Amino acid sequence: MRNVQPEVFLIARPQLDYDAIAAYLSEVGGGSWLERLDKGDLDNDALNLAEFAGRLCYRSWEPGLNPNVTRVRSEQDAYLQNILSSAHGSVLEHVSFSFALHNVSRVLTHELVRHRPGVAISQESLRFVRLSDIGFWFPDWASADAELMHRATAILGQLEEFQLWMADHFGLDAEGVAFSEKKHKTSFMRRFAPDGVATGLLWTANIRTLRHTIEARTDPGAEEEIRMLFGKIAELMRAEAPALFGDYTVTDGAWIPGWRKV
Ligand SMILES: Cc1cc2nc3c(=O)[nH]c(=O)nc-3n(C[C@H](O)[C@H](O)[C@H](O)COP(=O)(O)OP(=O)(O)OC[C@H]3O[C@@H](n4cnc5c(N)ncnc54)[C@H](O)[C@@H]3O)c2cc1C
Repeated sequence: MRNVQPEVFLIARPQLDYDAIAAYLSEVGGGSWLERLDKGDLDNDALNLAEFAGRLCYRSWEPGLNPNVTRVRSEQDAYLQNILSSAHGSVLEHVSFSFALHNVSRVLTHELVRHRPGVAISQESLRFVRLSDIGFWFPDWASADAELMHRATAILGQLEEFQLWMADHFGLDAEGVAFSEKKHKTSFMRRFAPDGVATGLLWTANIRTLRHTIEARTDPGAEEEIRMLFGKIAELMRAEAPALFGDYTVTDGAWIPGWRKV
């Protein structure tokens, strides 16, 4: 048995093609928006993409392009705050981030996949990947309980030993065993792994979904592993896109948004 810690790796974020944006803006007469980005320190592609999506909706690159628009907010932070406060959340759906979740349990992944819109998921297949050892996370309070740890590690050791016994019993490593047979038996064998077995998942979510899941999964009523993991995701997102995650207050690990249901 391996003692593990759930971890998050932010592995992908938006990247804009400013040449293509310039070409588009010259078509619609919004070049001054790009000049403003050039002049300032507005080099955050995620925030620029959200702003781009919002301005496209109202042709609000600059005053005068749409006769209904006589004034435009030129400051990005204020512009994005207005997106949040007016719940114009669909523009945030263009901005996605990908997280490799490492050494998380099947308890966590099962809860996470309940969040449906705005996500993409690729989960380690335990039909394909054989469990030769069992990774397991113990919260600090559990690690500090000597008798609990003694009994828990004994059970996990037995489950791990049973995995190895089954692989040997089914002859999975013998010469010429068809992959379909390995998959069939590996799938049977995983049934004897605990719900807490450490596994991995690639999770991509857009900003709208991230805002919703961060609130739901850091709530004091949320399960402790997912709560801890979403605390980490929230910290990452606040650093990545401060103007879109700066409205949260954090109280005892609960991330409470200034604007709910964006
Ligand atoms: C603390 C906690 C305890 C929980 N306990 C349980 C439990 O005991 N049993 C259990 O089964 N689940 C439980 N859940 C899971 C919960 O019921 C939701 O399925 C899960 O949190 C997904 O969130 P969501 O419903 O907001 O949907 P998401 O998929 O995250 O969707 C986001 C939002 O989009 C909208 N939306 C999405 N899909 C639809 C749709 N089909 N129709 C209309 N609107 C939609 C809703 O406004 C929704 O809030 C729990 C969740 C939490 C946070």
